[in-house]
Amino acid sequence: APLVVARDVVKEYRSGDETLRALKGVDLEIRPGEFVAVVGPSGSGKSTLLNVLGLLDVPTSGRVELDGTAVADLSIAERTRLRRETVGFVFQSFHLVPTLTATENVMLPRLAGSDTSGAFDRADGLLESVGLDDRTDHYPDQLSGGQRQRVAVARSLVNDPRLLLADEPTGNLDQATGRQVLDEFAGIADDGVAIVAVTHDEQVTRFADRVVTIVDGRIDVNAGDDSEPDAD
Ligand code: ADP
Ligand code: ADP
Repeated sequence: APLVVARDVVKEYRSGDETLRALKGVDLEIRPGEFVAVVGPSGSGKSTLLNVLGLLDVPTSGRVELDGTAVADLSIAERTRLRRETVGFVFQSFHLVPTLTATENVMLPRLAGSDTSGAFDRADGLLESVGLDDRTDHYPDQLSGGQRQRVAVARSLVNDPRLLLADEPTGNLDQATGRQVLDEFAGIADDGVAIVAVTHDEQVTRFADRVVTIVDGRIDVNAGDDSEPDAD
């Protein structure tokens, strides 16, 4: 069964009298262990799609199912709970807390949940898996861009997500460091985690199982997996 199902998803943003239709009817299914790259021009709706799939935002109409649960049937509290239990996020701007060490940053999402036991060891284990075992006590401003990105990847995994959503996960990285992050993603996908990454990086689209192209709020079914990702 698919982990994520989107059916005719429409997302509108309203400001005053203006309505902007960011998603105009998106259909998508993502299976466990699948690595999907989402490409398309700036403003086409890629971030909006990630937010909807990750339960950070609700569609205006259409249906989203996560792990067999129809999201529209949930209360806000239930939706937050399902998101915390199921989804990990890697944002482009990292969102690391400057006053916390790498280990503490990775532990943070775990502390919001009910099971905080073993959080410290789990965080250090994840930092080791992204090659940062010698940087656990460093603060974000003592880390390079690539190292910070890898801390963000480690943090996204601390609650054992079934779905990992990433916005330009290699955006600020050189090719070799980007490759390390992708190798980490490959290992996660092998464990059955579905990954959806918004990207402009050809290294990512070559690596992905499937490339989904969004143009003007719709999936462009004519853009085959072999198409070049659009540059902004
Ligand atoms: P992409 O990630 O492909 O650049 P976005 O999903 O960020 O595209 O944006 C799609 C469209 O929705 C754009 O026109 C953008 O300006 C608009 N948009 C995105 N977020 C909001 C918001 N919170 N309020 C109003 N409009 C928004
Ligand atoms: P990368 O090749 O991953 O971008 P850098 O060349 O930027 O790494 O950094 C090399 C080393 O210097 C890293 O191990 C990092 O921990 C350390 N470093 C980078 N910036 C700082 C800083 N502002 N303060 C202390 N150490 C730093």
